[in-house]
Amino acid sequence: MAYLSDPKETVAVLKRYGFAFQKKFGQNFLIDAHVLDKIIDAAGVTKDDTVLEIGPGIGTMTQVLCERAKEVIAVEIDRNLIPILTEDTCRMYDNLTVINGDILKTDVEALVRERGGRPIKVVANLPYYITTPIVMGLFEKHIPVENITVMVQREVAERMQAGPGSKDYGALSLAVQYYAEAYIAAYVPQNCFMPRPNVGSAVIRLTLRKEPPVKVKSEERLFAVIRAAFAQRRKTLVNSLAGSGELACTKEEAVAALRAAGLPETVRGEALTLAQLAALSDVFEKPY
Ligand code: SAM
Repeated sequence: MAYLSDPKETVAVLKRYGFAFQKKFGQNFLIDAHVLDKIIDAAGVTKDDTVLEIGPGIGTMTQVLCERAKEVIAVEIDRNLIPILTEDTCRMYDNLTVINGDILKTDVEALVRERGGRPIKVVANLPYYITTPIVMGLFEKHIPVENITVMVQREVAERMQAGPGSKDYGALSLAVQYYAEAYIAAYVPQNCFMPRPNVGSAVIRLTLRKEPPVKVKSEERLFAVIRAAFAQRRKTLVNSLAGSGELACTKEEAVAALRAAGLPETVRGEALTLAQLAALSDVFEKPY
């Protein structure tokens, strides 16, 4: 069988269906077999796994996933791609379910539950315009997931993996750290896609933690403190906390909270570790 990772095959399928790329859906299809292997190897996909693929496109990665996993569920928003997948490129796989829908509106929890509730693996070359809501949605809904191994914009991968003091460190780094262990498995150049994206890409694996690395009284308040700490980078943390509508605290209360958490009044959010932000969130009495 000819695989779609061969660019000639991809061009032939696109021609056969008169397919026009839709920029609004972030369509950059993979055309490199080594990169496909890198992603699937990083995810550690085996015949025991149920895999959720977000945005299968014409099925380039889906073909390999179907051959290496027990079952694949592929959620694709563009209805023009559905006949290509089901009648053509992936018609031979009986372990594949293709769903035409928006991943942000799909009840992934129900899909996992219907299959017995065993944690799944999420594997995707993500549409870059919604990387953060997709990943955060999987985390926050506490869906049983073993790992999320995805191609993202290089800068986003670096932000996800960054630690305190780095220019990339921010609310996304802390959210990822709270829920998962991040590992950048590969950097991927623009010529591995059709059409070429305007940005560099990277494959990142997020292995979900069984327990968060910090225990807090309220997860919601921790994330409100994190959002406030990074909302305005040039401000000191006291001013950011006091300026946050969400926390609804006065400057005096913010100073008192920092003191109670053992932090200097002049500290900036970007210098704080997750443990320090967790301690700070616990000394607030309200809201949540
Ligand atoms: N997996 C294919 C590949 O690697 O060649 C395609 C990857 S392409 C970067 C992203 C895919 O996600 C496209 O097929 C696009 O139509 C689909 N997509 C975009 N937004 C989506 C959404 N909200 N829900 C589901 N799929 C989406």
